[in-house]
Amino acid sequence: MNVRDSEVISGLLDKAGYELIEDEAKADIEILNTCSVRQLAEEKVWSAVGRSKAKIIGIVGCMANNYREAIFEKAPKVDFVVGTADIGKLPKILQEIEKHKGGCFEKKIYETDADFREDEIYHTGFHLDKEHAFVVISEGCENFCSYCVVPYVRGKLRSRDYNDILKEIRGDIDAGITKVTLLGQNVNAYRWIEKNVNFIQLLKMVNEIKGLKEFGFVTSHPKDTSVELFKAMAELDKLKKYLHLPIQSGSDRILKAMNRGYTRKYYLDLADKYRTIVPNGALTTDIIVGFPGEKELDFQDTYSVVKDVEFNAGFIFKYSIRPHTEATKMVDDVPKEEKERRHALILELQKKISRKKNAKNC
Ligand code: SAM
Ligand code: SF4
Repeated sequence: MNVRDSEVISGLLDKAGYELIEDEAKADIEILNTCSVRQLAEEKVWSAVGRSKAKIIGIVGCMANNYREAIFEKAPKVDFVVGTADIGKLPKILQEIEKHKGGCFEKKIYETDADFREDEIYHTGFHLDKEHAFVVISEGCENFCSYCVVPYVRGKLRSRDYNDILKEIRGDIDAGITKVTLLGQNVNAYRWIEKNVNFIQLLKMVNEIKGLKEFGFVTSHPKDTSVELFKAMAELDKLKKYLHLPIQSGSDRILKAMNRGYTRKYYLDLADKYRTIVPNGALTTDIIVGFPGEKELDFQDTYSVVKDVEFNAGFIFKYSIRPHTEATKMVDDVPKEEKERRHALILELQKKISRKKNAKNC
């Protein structure tokens, strides 16, 4: 999602006459498009601001929504702070900042309050890859998993009009793109209410687009993932047989505390059904170790899920406290060294499984 947001920002500024350059050290303006999902990502941004030699510096994206004007206190070098839904205003904001830069008072601007993005921002045609495009189908999330900052920094779930999504893909294809990935925090919850179009119907429409060779989607939430989706994946010839289905934990106790809305058994049944209906389909996951209250037995439950399901790949994260979230009310009681041990153990197991599966190519 952040990669696509950076493309959208580049496209808007390119259209407004700014030049995108590779070498950070030579930039007059530096815009840091930020992620707040994990603490480490934020720490990297604060260091990048410290290092920056640009004349104008902006913080855009999740950290802007997370810290708002407080950013100016922590990093006085920053000139503007622009939230995830406000990126369409960037060309105007930059003009304003440039007008005042070097004058008797230097203007600081922050815009973090928009509720939704205008669809036009997606149509600049700017993509880093000339053959593949990311296409946002929904923004935000309202699942409120207890560890996750996304609902607080990206707002409520908003699905885009399917006509606009199809128009964007057709435009990309006219420009030479042949593959697309549909993006959303929980793509399965996509629904264009006016015409009652759901995610599976959208997949069918995308599959019909002339000139498109292949497409996929991320991310799926297990509670909204259905057998109907698997059937569509098996049937639609252009749809990649790839499902990223984050489990987060294999312990029912921890899943409940995480507010994930499913149990270990539900997930295992879903994975079985996927493998039956979409033979040779790839399955990948996300896991958090060291969530508050995670005991050795809970960890062993997660370890055994990884062993039994044999994911093609797994992204393993050490829990970090995120502001605003429900989990801030819990005690972060798994020591750092223990988080590291659990992380290393699952990573090692998953590496072995991935190697075995890649060798078999399944
Ligand atoms: N919407 C997706 C879902 O429901 O799985 C993923 C969204 S999140 C941007 C990507 C991954 O970051 C999550 O699946 C989770 O594993 C991880 N994550 C989120 N919050 C975290 C936290 N506080 N500490 C560690 N990892 C976290
Ligand atoms: Fe975060 Fe949960 Fe929403 Fe994913 S589904 S973005 S983990 S709140």
